[in-house]
Amino acid sequence: MAFAEFPVQSLMYITNRPELVFTEGKGSWLTDHNGKRYLDFVQGWAVNALGHSNEGMIQALEKQARKLLNPSPAFYNEPMLKLAQQLTDNSCFDKVFFANSGAEANEGAIKLARKWGRKHKNGAYEIITMDHSFHGRTLATMSASGKAGWDTIFAPQVPGFPKAELNDLASVEKLITDKTVGIMLEPVQGEGGVIPATREFMQGLRALADKHKLLFIVDEVQTGCGRCGTLFAYELSGVEPDIMTLGKGIGGGVPLSALLCKADVASFEAGDQGGTYNGNPLMTAVGSSVMEQLTAPGFLDDVKAKGEYLREQLLVLTKEFGLGGERGEGLLRALVLGKDIGPQLVEEAREMSPVGLLLNAPRPNLLRFMPALNVTREEIDQMIGMLRELLKKLA
Ligand SMILES: *Cc1c(COP(=O)(O)O)cnc(C)c1O
Repeated sequence: MAFAEFPVQSLMYITNRPELVFTEGKGSWLTDHNGKRYLDFVQGWAVNALGHSNEGMIQALEKQARKLLNPSPAFYNEPMLKLAQQLTDNSCFDKVFFANSGAEANEGAIKLARKWGRKHKNGAYEIITMDHSFHGRTLATMSASGKAGWDTIFAPQVPGFPKAELNDLASVEKLITDKTVGIMLEPVQGEGGVIPATREFMQGLRALADKHKLLFIVDEVQTGCGRCGTLFAYELSGVEPDIMTLGKGIGGGVPLSALLCKADVASFEAGDQGGTYNGNPLMTAVGSSVMEQLTAPGFLDDVKAKGEYLREQLLVLTKEFGLGGERGEGLLRALVLGKDIGPQLVEEAREMSPVGLLLNAPRPNLLRFMPALNVTREEIDQMIGMLRELLKKLA
């Protein structure tokens, strides 16, 4: 079928999409409506932790679909309980609330912090967040985000999110008042351009939070679930946060997210929090399969090793073409181009033939790599080879 025959006019415009309709996916590969294949180093924006159409996820989905789709969030179901326990067993947290998207989990974190502030901190409600951060597209999470221009598009904002600078502890301390209830950040800023919070900064934030009785909240929607080579990125800095949100990778491609907290922070009362699809067995069964695979012996060591391999290869390209270097953790990495050729590279990579390459440029001078965590070294080599070809052409 030719692209012109697809009824694209019925979709609301929200962004410029290439004239492609993807029809199939397997592992690190996608196929479009013409049968052309693409090596996918975007994976739905770090969502498909186990690649496209992972066998374990398919089995969990099929099995659960035949058993029970939705008893109502007001009742317990087995997959919801199993996944919650997998998460508490494998993290420093004690309590889990499931939601459907990263933004919704972050909304939950904001509500939980405000509730805790009302109960334990004299109604303190302000959450200090970081410049250039990204926390989602609802009104509150847009207000919490430090993305340029987002303060005005849908004004007025939700108040209560003063902005500090990532990796500048003094800029955080300066904003603390008796209205402050918490500090929230991404352990590695994803949309902001793959900028890791330093270990010292994370530890400093923990100390500040302890000193001023604040909640330390990590948004691990992008960094969590194995992406950074540890199950959760907070582990890299040796601190334990009070609240964590998960999204993207936790569902491996299906709509699932989670809000986790320490036992003494869980302050919701009946009716404070909920949602029609929260903890539905279909999605939590898939999440359970994802967690099982991520925590299988050796899996995360392999992610770490491949992250290191990707790092080395990006440094080879850096040397070869005089680029600005690379950064990131695990399999969330960026190549600093030094010139604003990111969008052009993304487009030309996609248009390569016979196979295309899917890349992402969160900033014009930067490429971000978010392959499936089970990507192979051969696929990393192939991606690097294709990128080398493009860089040669542009040089
Ligand atoms: C993607 C992302 C979100 C938003 O998740 P959605 O599922 O799109 O709502 C929030 N925080 C971070 C760090 C993200 O990368």
